[in-house]
Amino acid sequence: MPIIHVLSDLLVNKIAAGEVIERPASVVKELVENSLDAGSTRIEIAIENGGAKFIRITDDGNGMEPDDLALCVRPHATSKIRNEEDLFAIQTMGFRGEALPSIGAVSQLRIVSRRKDAQAAHEISMAGERLEPIRATAGPPGTTVEVRQLFFNVPARQKFLRTPQTEVSHITEQLARIALVHPTIEFRLVHNGRLVHHLRPADSMRPRVADFFGREMADTLLEISRDERGLGLFGYVAPPAQSRTTAKWQYLFLNGRFIRDRIITAAVREAYRGLMDPNRHPVVFLSLTIDPANVDVNVHPTKMEVRWRDGNVLYSQILSAIRDRFLNTDLTPTLIASLPRNTSDDSTSSIGSTPSGAADTTTNENASSQQAVMSNNISPVATNDNDAEFRRQQVRQSMAEFFKRAQPIVHKEYHSAPPSASSSNQPNMTTLGQPSGYTSSQSSIPMPTKLVAPETAIQVHGCYLVSETAEGLLIIDQHALHERILFQELSEQFSRGPLESQRFLLAETIDVSPEQIGVIESHEETLHRLGLELSAFGPNAIAIHAAPSLLKPERTREFVRDLLDRLADRQAPASTEMVINDLLSMMACKAAVKAGDSLSQPEIAALMAKRDRVERSTNCPHGRPTSLNLSLAELERQFKRTGF
Ligand code: ADP
Ligand code: MG
Repeated sequence: MPIIHVLSDLLVNKIAAGEVIERPASVVKELVENSLDAGSTRIEIAIENGGAKFIRITDDGNGMEPDDLALCVRPHATSKIRNEEDLFAIQTMGFRGEALPSIGAVSQLRIVSRRKDAQAAHEISMAGERLEPIRATAGPPGTTVEVRQLFFNVPARQKFLRTPQTEVSHITEQLARIALVHPTIEFRLVHNGRLVHHLRPADSMRPRVADFFGREMADTLLEISRDERGLGLFGYVAPPAQSRTTAKWQYLFLNGRFIRDRIITAAVREAYRGLMDPNRHPVVFLSLTIDPANVDVNVHPTKMEVRWRDGNVLYSQILSAIRDRFLNTDLTPTLIASLPRNTSDDSTSSIGSTPSGAADTTTNENASSQQAVMSNNISPVATNDNDAEFRRQQVRQSMAEFFKRAQPIVHKEYHSAPPSASSSNQPNMTTLGQPSGYTSSQSSIPMPTKLVAPETAIQVHGCYLVSETAEGLLIIDQHALHERILFQELSEQFSRGPLESQRFLLAETIDVSPEQIGVIESHEETLHRLGLELSAFGPNAIAIHAAPSLLKPERTREFVRDLLDRLADRQAPASTEMVINDLLSMMACKAAVKAGDSLSQPEIAALMAKRDRVERSTNCPHGRPTSLNLSLAELERQFKRTGF
């Protein structure tokens, strides 16, 4: 008795649906792609209740004649390729002939279509195994596809569907991924009878960026356009100062299709290297065109991943295009303005990306090249304008670098290497909390060094506090220390109940991505406990009604924006505790005094008084040291007062 049998069409289709139809947004993607392939110029997406109940896509494309209508719902039926050669010359979005049968297998599908020259439209219906015969009906030229009761026969998938609001945000994200690279096509998205998006035809991607992500972002973008060595590259990159805490803001397109690609991502990252904090992510919208023969798109059922014939050319072309653009752009004002942020401050503010798993292997070697690039850019302007200020910035910067580089040593000393072995790495200064006589059996939590008269500490360069210790002197990074103190206070407050919050007379609004709107709903409880009150304000903006009192009003928008990025980041670990920790340290960072803030003596005294009461005051919430010890012995050695 043979044990192998051929699967039924329904089962084959359901298996295919398992790969390509994950949620209502996947249906929208497949159907809109079909409409584009049919040469449509106007496409309307209408959905009800997030799309699980009802999705309708109407286009003004070529339409199908009745015989094609009968075939289009059959598995592996397509008009887009005929033979193997065609597979390497694909100009269309589809070619696998899977979408319609897959959708039909897991929903109630109805297609009405009419070719331009035909007298009447025809329709076909399918639901699971049931296929109705074709019949004539009324309808305009073009095609309308209706999908009802998605996953009615796949309870497992139904369970994964989220709230309508979340599903709509997925659909909008899907629409963005298509509409950004097809700016000449008009799109409408209607949810529960309400027009959510109306994208009018445009001649480039920039207006579409504004449609989805707001004018503010669209206006800062730098255009890139080149066509060399078989690779067409068009799009926009944001200046390094506009970086974000997640990589979500990288929209890459190949031959009109949204893709994710490691080579391109690596090239982009390399292009920004040294120009921004390595823990943050650039914002880019890049559309590539390449001869289909040089790329294999048949790697993944959703075609999100591709295989390149020559990844090296791709890498070097993208890298040089972005680098050239930066060279031709005066980034100087931004760098000067954000200098303190790029060094001591912003490097600590990038909590959002710390545990996300997108490990950045280039971090360590960056420090020196970052400094080089920045000072190169700064010098021409700064030396002319204000010598003294420039020198102060340089001092700040090199001290900030020093604090940064001290980090790995802290880890080494407290977690692995014996103190004698590692102390040679850092001959001039030792990090705080490495008391003489330290042994590896001691607690791994560094104890703060005792100060002789903390209240008399003095501030230098608007960044650091210097104070005397029994054995020498201590240099404290004011931002890092304040951040650590606030973090502890916030954590304590948070465990007692919602953070104290302050209502705004006039709500502030910010532009957000569609996906982030869904975040507000799904994290309502967390946001409430953080003292935030947010609400959707149109399809791509939110209103801030109340914010934690601790935040300075002018930093609220920035905080909320980073927070939403963080919450919408799907790669981030799911543990609520970790996310809360992240958010609190983000808030602490935003609320803390910054490098460059000058402090009065009472303020200094207050900060120093709190230092003693805070656990782990030796490190900021991200693990970097808050202070450095300079011992008398070391000073004497440096001044050659002791002989060896
Ligand atoms: P594919 O797009 O991979 O060819 P589909 O299952 O998505 O597979 O569609 C099957 C076929 O149905 C397409 O090849 C196309 O000929 C036809 N078709 C689907 N949607 C439309 C549409 N909106 N307008 C015209 N023809 C369509
Ligand atoms: Mg298709």
